[in-house]
Amino acid sequence: MTDHRIERHWNVGKNNPMYGKPMAPHVKSILLEANKKRQVSPLVISNLNKYSQTHKGVNSPNFGKPMLPQTKAALALARQKQTGDKCPGWKGGKIRSRGYILIWCPNHPFVNATGYIQEHRLIAEKALGRYLKRGEMTHHINGNKADNHNSNLLICSLGYHRWLHAEMNRRYMQKYFGEN
Ligand SMILES: [Zn+2]
Repeated sequence: MTDHRIERHWNVGKNNPMYGKPMAPHVKSILLEANKKRQVSPLVISNLNKYSQTHKGVNSPNFGKPMLPQTKAALALARQKQTGDKCPGWKGGKIRSRGYILIWCPNHPFVNATGYIQEHRLIAEKALGRYLKRGEMTHHINGNKADNHNSNLLICSLGYHRWLHAEMNRRYMQKYFGEN
């Protein structure tokens, strides 16, 4: 009896008597057929979609289990691709965050990770004719973080900005809770 495992081993690559010879047409067609079978059929895809619909959230067998590193990486990549105008919540490049107005400006050297920069920074930079340096701040004089008119913006150092807020706070306390 022939041991097929040994036969297979012997016939691999250069040891195969057919090595270097043109592939016979019937072998070609068998390989093509095998490749087709390896492709996912539309039925399999639709079944997978149905499965993911009915096995969402708590119904998923993976619910509560830690996410696989490759899944995490794929999600992070997808999220990266969904910033700015590729984001489903795209509002023409202007959004609000913590009271500030942010502008989609992916080419600015100091944008955040999602490609946005605070509008008051852009306005201050336009007025200055240069980028704001590290440690330079823009203070909103009337306290409204979304009011970015030139007259409402004060460009100052981080230290002065801190002092300004402390001083405003001190005067407020003195006025409403002070002795005299
Ligand atoms: Zn301020």
